[in-house]
Amino acid sequence: MGNKVIIFSAPSGAGKSTIVNHILGLHPELEFSISATSRAPRGQEQHGVEYYFYTAEEFRQMIEEDKFVEHEEVYPGSFYGTLKSEVNRIWAKGHAIVFDIDVQGGVNLKRIFGEKALSVFIQAPSVEVLRERLVGRGTDTPEAIEKRVAKAASEMEFAAGKFDYVLVNDDLSKAFAEAEQVIGSFLTNS
Ligand code: 5GP
Repeated sequence: MGNKVIIFSAPSGAGKSTIVNHILGLHPELEFSISATSRAPRGQEQHGVEYYFYTAEEFRQMIEEDKFVEHEEVYPGSFYGTLKSEVNRIWAKGHAIVFDIDVQGGVNLKRIFGEKALSVFIQAPSVEVLRERLVGRGTDTPEAIEKRVAKAASEMEFAAGKFDYVLVNDDLSKAFAEAEQVIGSFLTNS
């Protein structure tokens, strides 16, 4: 288990966090990889829980020091990345790693980890449903929502054929069951 990884990617609003949290709740041998980011914390988010929060300057410094497995400017001015130290921290415990990462990052991680990795793309049923979900979540400005929706549309196109598994999240209980099945089989059989 100590060298496996599961990669979840999705346009934001596709219900990724809900599915990831469900799977983490079922498997104590899985551990969430906490990414580093230069975006500001939202709501109750805390350093070392949802993300490791840094300034853009600190983030750039860490890039120069080669501290990342992968990193990206996911939104203009907002950097996100997976720290090498985070991967080592989780594997050292004998746990498998769960990544919640944007689509480009997911493709990059799959390339890096190869057969050790199961990559899952979570797809929202449509761009309209995605917009409704983001509005319903109430954490982003209308401008930010439009940016996320535009990005989602291009990500859905880009993702086709690049992931091991595509999970369409139109019904949450069905999506849970499907995720449980595909992850259970990856953990026991490979
Ligand atoms: P949010 O700001 O909504 O938490 O995340 C924005 C996007 O950044 C999401 O698609 C999320 O999966 C992605 N993300 C989070 N951590 C990482 C990371 O370490 N690397 C990359 N490339 N993307 C990440």
